[in-house]
Order: sequence, then structure tokens, then C-alpha cells
Amino acid sequence: MDDAPRHNDLSHVIAADRAHVWHHLSQHKTYETTDPRVIVEGRGLRVWDATGRETLDAVSGGVWTVNVGYGRETIADAVRDQLVRMNFFAGAAGSIPGAQFAERLIEKMPGMSRVYYSNSGSEANEKAYKIVRQIAHRQHGGRKWKILYRERDYHGTTIATLASGGQEERRAMYGPFPPGFIPVPHCLEYRSQWGEVADYGLRAADAIEEVILREGPDTVGAIILEPVTAGGGVITPPEGYWPRVQEICRKYGLLLIIDEVVCGVGRTGTWFGYQHFGIQPDIVTMAKGVASGYAAISCTVTTEAVFDMFKDDPGDPLSYFRDISTFGGCTAGPAAALENMRIIEDEGLLDNCTAMGARLMDNLRALQARHPVIGDVRGKGLFCGAELVADRATRAPLPEAQVAAVLGAVMKRGVQIGMTNRSIPGLNNTLCLSPALMVSADQIDQITSAIDEALGEICESPG
Ligand code: PLP
Repeated sequence: MDDAPRHNDLSHVIAADRAHVWHHLSQHKTYETTDPRVIVEGRGLRVWDATGRETLDAVSGGVWTVNVGYGRETIADAVRDQLVRMNFFAGAAGSIPGAQFAERLIEKMPGMSRVYYSNSGSEANEKAYKIVRQIAHRQHGGRKWKILYRERDYHGTTIATLASGGQEERRAMYGPFPPGFIPVPHCLEYRSQWGEVADYGLRAADAIEEVILREGPDTVGAIILEPVTAGGGVITPPEGYWPRVQEICRKYGLLLIIDEVVCGVGRTGTWFGYQHFGIQPDIVTMAKGVASGYAAISCTVTTEAVFDMFKDDPGDPLSYFRDISTFGGCTAGPAAALENMRIIEDEGLLDNCTAMGARLMDNLRALQARHPVIGDVRGKGLFCGAELVADRATRAPLPEAQVAAVLGAVMKRGVQIGMTNRSIPGLNNTLCLSPALMVSADQIDQITSAIDEALGEICESPG
């Protein structure tokens, strides 16, 4: 039975959108010849746009966010109930869902202790940077103020997070940037910077130590890293990388900031991506999956040792963390996050993520065996990527226009996938897949068979 939602004519909405909305990451010239896409309804993994067209969403809201899928009434109910009881009170005041979610979250993060609320991934990372800078001033006499970041990683869209962004196209024309953010080499073995090396993971981690030594260990306070790089190409860290990174951080007294904005809250099959690698961060940031997009919430989570460095000092009126996020006081976020977490637990979505992630990876490997255009497949859990190449031997990337054409051909088959988003010049050639965590085996197969057909159509058809 066709259970597609019915809507009255929404052409006026499309017209209003075209006339007045400035879309994210969009070349608006496109809308001179095509309608902007307005999404009006979602259920599970399916979404409908204003023209009534249905799509299977394999990217969880476009940007790895809607981990528990669309149309979750219990989350909407929890948010509604909370908002009518108490919607907002900012500043030093706490809230019932704020306290409850912090407690539940910390249960999932052994070794971590304190949760600081804000509204976006960028903001959560900015808080982390401010924590590092304040520690530098209070504990190290202004030294240890530099923050290392990795090529190809992304940490947000504000000026400071772009200053620590390893994606050139995102940064271009927004400088000059504040000083003190220093790049370290990426860790994508498929695009090795050192040719063929026996232990690529250790080599890539040792490159961090080289940067620390070059900058001066007493000037470097922290490093921020994605556990699995997202928009920079779905880069799963090579063997041996993470333990060595942790060792280097301890050796030189660097705070390890893990950006879990994409990987956090189940995306890779564990609560947090870093938990695959046996490491202990000092600061963890998260946003997208925390409430699956049902409310805006982000968290900067620290150890008690980091928090302790902000203990009141009667001799220093500036000793506490002098930061506020107005809407970090909105209770919709933690209310939604609590229910989101309950759903993940009660529906066994971490296990489903692991099982369906393995199926997705198997299917992608099978496609790689058949389609020479797939040079590499990577991923963890339901967070996968397939890098497309024009030539397998040279690894020359497939031109971006052709990758976009593959996306269009997949979309024509009713499935939405993503690609690295104009962030690495010449290397925007990775297909990104991140369906909601309750995706079924049939849906995984539907996604990969759409890719199969699209690659045949775009990359292999004669002429
Ligand atoms: N960190 C990572 C790894 C991200 O992928 C993103 C956004 O895509 C951010 C931070 C920034 O999050 P937001 O867009 O919520 O500011």
C-alpha cells in the first residue's frame, strides 16, 4: 500500500524559498534553472520533498546527523513536555534534563566527567579551544597556547574553527585567521605523503611529534583530531596510529581533544568513535547525533582533571571559565538527547550499526571488485566512504563533476548519498554513506544497488 504522505500544492513554498532563503553551501545560480529542494516530511529513513518525491536518505539528513531516523514521536513528545514545563533559563542555572543527560552521557564515557552545553559542533570546539587557552594562561604562564589540527579534518565554520580546519576550500577567502593553530599531516594511507612505508600508522603519528618539536613542546597545548575523518574523505585511522598519538600527547603534555561531532553517539557502532581505539581523551566534543537533529545541542565534555584547573581561586577573579552560550540553556536539547539515547539503547542500535555497517562495507567491497572506478573503500560502522578514481594504477581522482553526476544518478534511483564537499581541491572524490542506525539489510542493499547502477551509467557506459 502506498503510505506516502499527501500534501496540498506547495509550489508557493518553493517560490518563497527561492526568493528569500540563502541556502547553506550553495551556488545560488543553480536555482535559476532548477528548483531549490525543500524537504517537507520524513519517516524512518525516507524523506519527501515539496514536489512529493520520495528518497531513501543514506546520509542521515545530509550531514551524518539523524542517527535515529525521522518522525520519532517520543522525542517530539519529550521535547514538548519539557518545553511547556520549563523551556529556558540561561547563565549559571541548571535544568532537569540537563542534569539527567549529563549523568547518562558520562556513564557512556569512562574517564570523562563534566558536560558543557552549547548548540553546534563549531561552538563545542570553540569552547574546547578556550579551555586550552585559559589553561595555558593559568597553568603555563601564557605558554602552551598552540593547538595542532590535522590536514583534511574539519572542526567548524567559525573563524577560529576554520583556523584549525584542514580543508582548504572551506578556508579560502575567510582569512586572515587567528594565530596559534598549526597543521599536522593527514593519515590517509591511500594518499600517502611518504610513498610506501612499512608502518604507515606510526609514520603518520610520528609526523605529529615532528611538528611539536619544530614548534617547541613548551608552546603546544593541545591537538584536536576526528576519530574517523568525515568530510575530509572518510579516513579511518591506520593501524598503530592512535596509541602512538596518545603516547605523544602524554610525552609532551598535550591535551587530546577528540572531535566526535560526526562519530559521536553511535555512528561507528560504539557510543564514541575514540572508543574503538583504546585511547583516553582529555576533551571530547559532540553535536550532530546527540539529539539526531530533533533539537540543537552540542557538548564539550572534559575529564575531572581539566575541570579541576578551573577551580575557584580567591586570589584570581578570572579563574573560572568565563564563557556562556545563551541557548546552551534551552532545555529542548538535553530533553531530546535523553530520549535519543534511550531509543539507541532500547532498540539495540549500536549492534545494528555494527551489523549493518559490516554489510554496507561488504557490499562496497563487492562493488569495488566490479567497478575499477572505486579505488578505495573505508569506514567504521555506518560511516563509510568509497573513493572514486579515474585510473586505479595512478590513483588520479575522478573529476568532481563526474562524482557529482554519480550522486545525481543515484538520486534518480531514489537514494540520496553524499560526497566530500568541495573541501580538498582536486580530491572531492569520495562518496559518503551514513544511513540512520536502524537501517535494514534490504535498505543497505537498495543503497548499494543504486550506486552499482549509477557507476555503470556514469563511469562505464560507452561514449
Ligand atoms: N566537527 C566536525 C567533525 C564536523 O563534521 C562538523 C560539521 O560538519 C563540525 C565540527 C561543525 O559542526 P556545526 O556545523 O554543528 O557547527
